[in-house]
Amino acid sequence: MIDAVLVINAGSSSIKFALYSLVINKTSNAKEKPLLGGKIVDIGQCPKLYALDANDIDLTKNDLDVFNDQTTHEDLIQWLLDWISCHNHGYTIKGVGHRVVHGGRDFLTATKLTISVVTQLKELIPLAPLHQPHNLSAIEAIFNWAPKLPQIACFDTSFHHTQSTLAQLFALPREYSDKGIIRYGFHGLSYQYITSCLPEYLGTLSEGRVIVAHLGNGASMCALKHRQSVATTMGFTALDGLMMGQRCGSLDAGVVIHLLRCYKMSIEEVEHMLYHKSGLLGVSGISNNMQVLQQSNDPHAQQAIDLFCYRSARELASLVSTLNGLDAIVFTAGIGENSAQIREQICAQLTWLGVTLDLKENRKHNTVISQVNSNIKVLVIPTNEEVVIAEATQKLLASQ
Ligand code: ADP
Repeated sequence: MIDAVLVINAGSSSIKFALYSLVINKTSNAKEKPLLGGKIVDIGQCPKLYALDANDIDLTKNDLDVFNDQTTHEDLIQWLLDWISCHNHGYTIKGVGHRVVHGGRDFLTATKLTISVVTQLKELIPLAPLHQPHNLSAIEAIFNWAPKLPQIACFDTSFHHTQSTLAQLFALPREYSDKGIIRYGFHGLSYQYITSCLPEYLGTLSEGRVIVAHLGNGASMCALKHRQSVATTMGFTALDGLMMGQRCGSLDAGVVIHLLRCYKMSIEEVEHMLYHKSGLLGVSGISNNMQVLQQSNDPHAQQAIDLFCYRSARELASLVSTLNGLDAIVFTAGIGENSAQIREQICAQLTWLGVTLDLKENRKHNTVISQVNSNIKVLVIPTNEEVVIAEATQKLLASQ
């Protein structure tokens, strides 16, 4: 039997999973291919499973045909655990590593999950209502499935603890920042993975001024110096910053007051609107899915795409000032990795900075997509949050 670690990354519209072989007390082997890996996508629409085994045998079948737009994350986690058991030939799962979006002030590194830790993490649900409940329901489903199996939480907020106090502060009365109302930042597992790849592609420049654009259904950017987080677009919650699939991104706080006072909306209605009905979906009136919008002839779909790119370029330019210049941009996540059109449209608004894209390389989705003489290098690097979670889980299991 091979000892293995299971990684669960329960996102807003997808659940990614991977089973890695576990080698305790040896150098980490998590960068190897998983024994089994895949994702359930389009949750909330018509969920689909994509999965491969270690030999790249496609395990994708119409297994999820019984599900529909009403199927919850909880249903799918339960289904996935049974599916993994059926496809588990010769592995013993020794631990499970989870992506947990919000670690608040108390959880700065990967942490073993206990009932009391889960209780503390539940208190952070209002700060990440779109993710934290899905992360925690996966943890609870596994506690029910195998109560003694060690589970480890890896936090999206941890990566940003290198930021200065200035980068973290809101201009609110001090008593509120003292109570933890500060900018935390998210997508840290993705940024950690990208920083681990930078030396390979950028050499010594990897220690310079780099902005990573994580453009998926959730989207943010992170300014890096010496491969550490200096500033990021998301803040106290994962609502801030860039326009996203369903989330509005940065918004004048006065709009919220106006909706409450003049439209008599309840707090729950405002929350639902900002987290679930805004972003690409809200502006297009069609979909939160970039691919769907790119295939549409509706002018509102085009306007949603244009606003996404405009906001991205504007936020990126603002991060440049936190780095006092820029050496490289990295695109990653669903849209960043796969849409040459969006990369081109964003970079076209950054030519004044010295970004010159190689349109051919960009359309081929090559790793380096800037021209040789571009002042700023532009790269596409597929992210892999699961590897970061597997490595942290391995380390913690090995230390016990
Ligand atoms: P999540 O935040 O749920 O992890 P992903 O990183 O998987 O999201 O990104 C999902 C987004 O990526 C969707 O908007 C999807 O349309 C977009 N996407 C994936 N492939 C492409 C593509 N080839 N062209 C444009 N957009 C794409």
